[in-house]
Amino acid sequence: MSNRARVVGVRPVADGVLEYRLQLVAPPRVSFSAGQYLSLDCGLDEQGLPQRRAYSIASPPGDDGHLVICAKLIAGGLGSRLLQRLGIGDEVDFTGPLGFFVLDQGHAGDVVFCATGTGIVPVVPMLQELLARDETGRVLLFWGMRAPADVFYREVIDALAERHPRLEVHLSLTRPGPEWRGEQGRIGAKVLGALPALSEPVFYLVGNGAMIDEVRAALKARGVDRRRFRTEAFFTPGAEPA
Ligand SMILES: Cc1cc2nc3c(=O)[nH]c(=O)nc-3n(C[C@H](O)[C@H](O)[C@H](O)COP(=O)(O)OP(=O)(O)OC[C@H]3O[C@@H](n4cnc5c(N)ncnc54)[C@H](O)[C@@H]3O)c2cc1C
Repeated sequence: MSNRARVVGVRPVADGVLEYRLQLVAPPRVSFSAGQYLSLDCGLDEQGLPQRRAYSIASPPGDDGHLVICAKLIAGGLGSRLLQRLGIGDEVDFTGPLGFFVLDQGHAGDVVFCATGTGIVPVVPMLQELLARDETGRVLLFWGMRAPADVFYREVIDALAERHPRLEVHLSLTRPGPEWRGEQGRIGAKVLGALPALSEPVFYLVGNGAMIDEVRAALKARGVDRRRFRTEAFFTPGAEPA
């Protein structure tokens, strides 16, 4: 049986990206781990088959009865259509929270996140949890976005970096525009550049499946053991939706 939540807040956070604050209706509370997602019931497709879409939870566990999700709306997409129509007071059915893309119980060394697009959504609560732990390794975030207007949750990430000197943030844009003064280009080369100085790193790769394949293959070619990767592909460009 599906769980149910009511929309109590909707706000745009970037170009075409909406954040939804959900209040749980049934059950009134769920437990979950940072990094997990909800599987939203999106109705039936043209063949009458039930469809679901996954949306990562942006809020930390423990926010009494509320969950936040954040979606990039894709023109013509079934999940995007459902989300676009949702307003305050509307209810959605979902399964979950689900998923295995969660933090290891502990890290002996450094932790590296590579996130593109909406991949930053699960990284926010994962960073919050990780940085509250009694670990001392470096935490690096390689964050790839297209243009300045696509960037969201920067204020949350910046506040974390200010409070926790062990977090280093590398936000890099592939279409920076003339005003951008920060890093540019894809994140793969930047992660490789950081690799020699890392100690026993664990890599969390999330977002575009092509980025995940590229970064993982490059790191493996440099001798990084496959057991050091945790991955969550949101989509593979060009592939049919699941
Ligand atoms: C574990 C997991 C967690 C996810 N978490 C999120 C999340 O937090 N926020 C979110 O917006 N999406 C997330 N997704 C993707 C989401 O489930 C949908 O695939 C997406 O919203 C598109 O669904 P749709 O029905 O609107 O379009 P569809 O018709 O299913 O997809 C159309 C095309 O859009 C592209 N696409 C899919 N997702 C994205 C995306 N996020 N950004 C850019 N292009 C995309 C793909 O090329 C896809 O083939 C997640 C996916 C997985 C597997």
